[in-house]
Amino acid sequence: MDKIKMTTPLVEMDGDEMTRILWKLIKDELLLPFVDLKTEYYDLGLDYRNKTNDQVTFDSAEATKKYGVAVKCATITPNAARMPEYNLKEMWKSPNGTIRAILDGTVFRAPIIVKGIEPYVKNWTKPITIARHAYGDVYKGVEMKIPAAGKTELVYTNEAGEETRELIHEFDGPGIIQGMHNINKSIESFARSCFNFALDTKQDLWFATKDTISKKYDHTFKDIFADIFENEYKEKFDEAGIEYFYTLIDDAVARVMRSEGGYIWACKNYDGDVMSDMVATAFGSLSMMTSVLASPNGYYEYEAAHGTVQRHYYKYLKGEETSTNPIATIFAWTGALRKRGELDNLPELMAFADKLEKACIDTIENGEMTGDLYLISTLENKKKLNTEEFILAIRKTLEGLM
Ligand code: NAP
Ligand code: MG
Repeated sequence: MDKIKMTTPLVEMDGDEMTRILWKLIKDELLLPFVDLKTEYYDLGLDYRNKTNDQVTFDSAEATKKYGVAVKCATITPNAARMPEYNLKEMWKSPNGTIRAILDGTVFRAPIIVKGIEPYVKNWTKPITIARHAYGDVYKGVEMKIPAAGKTELVYTNEAGEETRELIHEFDGPGIIQGMHNINKSIESFARSCFNFALDTKQDLWFATKDTISKKYDHTFKDIFADIFENEYKEKFDEAGIEYFYTLIDDAVARVMRSEGGYIWACKNYDGDVMSDMVATAFGSLSMMTSVLASPNGYYEYEAAHGTVQRHYYKYLKGEETSTNPIATIFAWTGALRKRGELDNLPELMAFADKLEKACIDTIENGEMTGDLYLISTLENKKKLNTEEFILAIRKTLEGLM
């Protein structure tokens, strides 16, 4: 059989620990035998980031701007314990943060649904994709403890030195205040990323804020989304047969619980932080969650939502058996390959991505799975496989589909 051709390379960002082990297994067993894989390789493993003073992370993000599509392995964000472990020159920043800052995007997270792993919300039969705005609000908040009686104000000083003031509160005893901000430009990119992603995946887009209470702050989010939708996207949405729907956050939460899923839920930063954990847990497992950074300029970076699975890696290093779930990492590859196929007009590559995903789902629905799923699966004929066995089982299913 001829291998499936690619024309443009994917930006390949290798990573750390157990996911780095999975990365190689996935390439060797599930990709290279079938695809004439073209990638531009960047080693974001912590050793090499340290060696290059993190330059490799910046280079990989720039390459993503050049080629448009990247696939990323989970990476260590160093903390104090990693300094001696990897003999680090510096506590390097989170690669995801660096890449996100360069590509300026929104992260979309969606669960992978399989029979036997039942969502806790029984009417959620289709995935719910959360799009979280990743700039500002309480995450860039400035806070003060007010020790005793006194007046607190918001003050804006323009470039000419003129002040505008707004009373926050006249305290008659101790209390607390908080100042937070956002930037129209960032909200606009957030909105465009969401509208583009909805068109890309042909799903409705929901957005919600607390604009009835926050008549300037949250209302600005609502207005920016509405303006961009009316001026740039309404026709495209009509053509695609999808809709943009705005509602109050409380109403959105109630509707989400009653819904069957199958849409994108755009959330302000804090709402997205909280709701994505709820949605991920309700759908079953972080190891079954895909994640893609979509930039307003049309760049995509696909990854797994989980980390480097450190505990399993230490077992692996001791020669003990592991049962680590590769599904989210495989879906990062299929997402990237499908997008590459779409951009380069390679239907065979897109079909391969579909088949590999189907092979993953069929294998699990057939009862073969890793330990994390084995614990929660309701299938009767389920069997727990180790890391290598599970990937080989997917390969066997895939060969049957090719
Ligand atoms: P983690 O790697 O997500 O793992 C936490 C636990 O979740 C694991 O110990 C395991 O539970 C379970 N788990 C996660 N993924 C799994 C999989 N694919 N298969 C089976 N079980 C899985 O989070 P962490 O241990 O807190 O973080 C480890 C490192 O990852 C840190 O250095 C952190 O900086 C990094 N991190 C990177 C990213 C990223 O690059 N996107 C994201 C988050 C964290 P059991 O041990 O109970 O089996
Ligand atoms: Mg959170």
